[in-house]
Amino acid sequence: MKTKEDIIQWLYQNEEPYIKMADYIWENPEPAYREFKSSKYQADYLQKAGFKVKWDIGGINTAFVAEWGTGKPIIGFLGEFDALASLSQKVQTTPEPVVEGAPGHGCGHNLLGTAGLAAAVAIRYWLEENGMNGTVRYYGCPAEEVLAGKTFMARDGVFDDLDAALNFHPGSMNSVSKGSMVGLSDIKFRFHGRTAHAGGAPHLGRSALDAVELMNVGVNYLREHVTKYVRMHYTITHGGDLPNVVPAEAEVWYFLRAHKPEEMEELITRVRKIAEGAALMTETRVEEVFQGACSYVLSNHYLADLQYENMKLIGPIQFTDAEMKFARQLSDQYPKEYFTRAVESVKLDATDQHLLDEVKDKPLWGVNFPAFDQDRVDTGSTDVGDVSLITPLAVVFTSCGPVAVPGHNWGYTAAVGSSMGHKGMMHAARIMAATAYDLFTDPIHIQKARKEFMAARNGKPYKNPIPDSVQPPKYSNPERS
Ligand SMILES: [Zn+2]
Repeated sequence: MKTKEDIIQWLYQNEEPYIKMADYIWENPEPAYREFKSSKYQADYLQKAGFKVKWDIGGINTAFVAEWGTGKPIIGFLGEFDALASLSQKVQTTPEPVVEGAPGHGCGHNLLGTAGLAAAVAIRYWLEENGMNGTVRYYGCPAEEVLAGKTFMARDGVFDDLDAALNFHPGSMNSVSKGSMVGLSDIKFRFHGRTAHAGGAPHLGRSALDAVELMNVGVNYLREHVTKYVRMHYTITHGGDLPNVVPAEAEVWYFLRAHKPEEMEELITRVRKIAEGAALMTETRVEEVFQGACSYVLSNHYLADLQYENMKLIGPIQFTDAEMKFARQLSDQYPKEYFTRAVESVKLDATDQHLLDEVKDKPLWGVNFPAFDQDRVDTGSTDVGDVSLITPLAVVFTSCGPVAVPGHNWGYTAAVGSSMGHKGMMHAARIMAATAYDLFTDPIHIQKARKEFMAARNGKPYKNPIPDSVQPPKYSNPERS
């Protein structure tokens, strides 16, 4: 491998072990912080390929960093491998779990990590064959679905010396991103009261459930007085056991979302006051359990354009008639609105409009779009945000399933376990590897990306959104004892 074209070709000719890896992770879906098999499989593979592997990043025993090479630049590929609860699904066009109630890869993280890993391996061989300076890293990042894995890893400083990071997420179209996502804080509020016989002596009880309900009422009134990207969602995780027993214990679990860190800090302060108010009203005590957090996403536009140039060079994904048919049948399971919404989300300049016209009647899209989400703030969140505030970061999405099939859904589990998913994954691997080639061979790219990054950060140091006292949950790892 000498040229960029050689690297791209290498990734066409050596797809097999990566498809096998993605399928292995798909067949062994593991929830956040318990990605024991998935992380081990990837780390073992990288170790055999000559990477140095360091485990237990951020205090998580499924988090690792694999590194090859020496010196600058240091380019990192981010990977994830966690699955989602209850999304087990066979590779077929009707809903049927592989194992009832088991987790499944409804967000395509079986492809997400594997694509970055394949790109890292290709780059590692290319660096070696050409006797080049530079370091390539693969980050095995757990627990993205609970939005905290990378944030804990960031607290360990593992992203600090990166010159740039490349990230991929499976989607239903090929595009680079110039958009943002909001930050999130994951907090449980536990109220402690006093139990009593609800019929015989209610006046002796102090209901923790009353406090939970009053807190929620307070938050629902707060909704009127927040900025447009704020979201406050909750679920009552414990409300007592019996109606005739005044509950001494109750718990409500909140996800609080706001765009920038200042807005998040203000939101947490206000919600905290409401929790304290509820405790005061009910003569209970409130305890806060801060579980995790992630920051907003700062996408690097220069790197996004660079990735798009490489997408154009590689060309569209070619899907077969059989894949189109499978995609059509899967799409038929979903309301038409999903498809129309996806078509409407693509906002292109007149010169690029033909790209959309080519595919807009097809269930599965192989074309490459330039970024069409500039200045858009998505009210979803990802822990990729924390890496994006530490180093310039590029995000690429590829078509790994039908346009009408939403993520976090059984149909998407089916898609990412099929050849559609494999094709999208390898497309992403080639785009990221080609972009890394650019970053290693011409320093101007990193300079320009960093200049944009510094201007956007405006001298603000990165502040980890998880309080120092909060540790990730601990599970014993059977694969590493
Ligand atoms: Zn995801």
